[in-house]
Amino acid sequence: MTFHDLSLIQPLLTAIERVGYTHPTPIQAKAIPPILNGQDLMGCAQTGTGKTAAFAIPILQRLTLKSRPEGKRKIRTLILTPTRELAIQIEENIQAYGKDLDHRHAVIFGGVNQHSQVQQVKNGIDILVATPGRLIDLHQQGYISLQHLEIFVLDEADRMLDMGFIHDVNRIIKLIPTRRQTLFFSATMPKEIKALANTLLTNPEMVVVTPISSTAETVEQSMVFVETAEKKDVLLDLLTVNSTPSVLVFTRTKHGADRVVKILAKSKITAAAIHGNKSQNARQNALNGFKQQKIRVLVATDIAARGIDIDDLSLVVNYDLPNVPETYVHRIGRTGRAGANGQAISFCNQEERAYLKDIQKLIGRTIDLHPSYC
Ligand code: AMP
Repeated sequence: MTFHDLSLIQPLLTAIERVGYTHPTPIQAKAIPPILNGQDLMGCAQTGTGKTAAFAIPILQRLTLKSRPEGKRKIRTLILTPTRELAIQIEENIQAYGKDLDHRHAVIFGGVNQHSQVQQVKNGIDILVATPGRLIDLHQQGYISLQHLEIFVLDEADRMLDMGFIHDVNRIIKLIPTRRQTLFFSATMPKEIKALANTLLTNPEMVVVTPISSTAETVEQSMVFVETAEKKDVLLDLLTVNSTPSVLVFTRTKHGADRVVKILAKSKITAAAIHGNKSQNARQNALNGFKQQKIRVLVATDIAARGIDIDDLSLVVNYDLPNVPETYVHRIGRTGRAGANGQAISFCNQEERAYLKDIQKLIGRTIDLHPSYC
């Protein structure tokens, strides 16, 4: 199947060609037709599957084919997502696919001054990408009206729950029209998420791709059994032997992330940390530096790393193993995206052996020992 088989309008096909996609990913092939038909959708898929394009492309087409309400532009689509990084990436995607179309869009998120966000919204926009807190805030201040909403996207619903945003999400739902198209995405389907989906969706099309435990297939995974004190030496050795330009290293704690950055700096390896104690600006700078390959190693905690989208990331190092096995799959899903080959190397000390056991149970296989550090 190609994008030409999906009944897309020419400006979108041109944009898709421009960004270099040749074939739709499975979620795109399955989700684009029902969304174009105006149906509700329940997508069980995680970041890395191409889900942003799966909803952004058909939304742009629907907004183009249906005439815009009279007068000043009104918000016709709301995309709600849990993190600032995801929000920024979704807007970047909309910008890229909608380049030749006449839709205005904006992204709003907390942690930064609201002024420029308010200005954009005031000027009139068709598509709003938002994190829940800032949306409620600007709505309460009277800057945002959702009365003309036609399409509502709830992205990463399970993470909304994990991050404690479900109450905010429920408040937002009360602000939008009941007659609308709803697209609901979640990587996992715990009870609360199923219940929320039931209240939001009408006769949804169900689309399921790559369950959490099998996403790791395109990633070459290996283990290094190592004592805590030796982890830094193994990391330095790996980075010296391996010439990979962009390496993402995960630590369990913020302090751990800062420590790793210091160790690397001493050995003249450019590195930056992103975690909750860093300001939004510092996080964005680190991410930009990493994307532009000015910084070779990005050291992240799990919350900070949620949704970061970096092309050509071929190595992920788990400096510490996560105590939640699903987190391991999320982490290594940062590499080997959209069918590319990636490598994930995990360090495991004595105390982490129990975590390893849970991870191997979830992914249904034993992770091989790294050949250089057996
Ligand atoms: P997402 O799941 O939306 O975070 O997308 C993951 C990555 O896949 C992003 O870097 C996209 O640019 C890329 N991508 C999305 N769709 C395609 C496609 N059809 N072919 C190749 N890459 C894609």
